[in-house]
Amino acid sequence: MARNFFSNLLEWKALLTPLQYKVMRRDGTERSGSSPLDKIYADGTYHCRGCDLDVYPSTTKFDSGTGWPSFWQSLPDVVRTKDDRFLLRVRTEVHCRRCGSHFGHIFDDGPAPTGKRHCLNGVSLVFSGA
Ligand SMILES: [Zn+2]
Repeated sequence: MARNFFSNLLEWKALLTPLQYKVMRRDGTERSGSSPLDKIYADGTYHCRGCDLDVYPSTTKFDSGTGWPSFWQSLPDVVRTKDDRFLLRVRTEVHCRRCGSHFGHIFDDGPAPTGKRHCLNGVSLVFSGA
């Protein structure tokens, strides 16, 4: 599917539920504990809901206890980050390299080997089992 197909926000709005749109295209956050993906630990791959790019492997998923699907690393070269100024703090926002959909934020309190915690919104992802 071509990247430019989704260039118009009105097209995104027609394709996504209101919550998916708010999270993926407006950098929103789903309610903690609301995503069924938070408790899935089966083998497989998580895809970007926007463009179907493979973005996170089940092998880097862990239970952060936050109520959001959490990973210590993405697949190689599939996400991009930017600074997100929220109140007085600067957070690292993470999104899809290909379609720009917002996934969540990256924090420095994750497990080894990276020490990173990619705190993601389940609505931005689609899981497919191995
Ligand atoms: Zn994408």
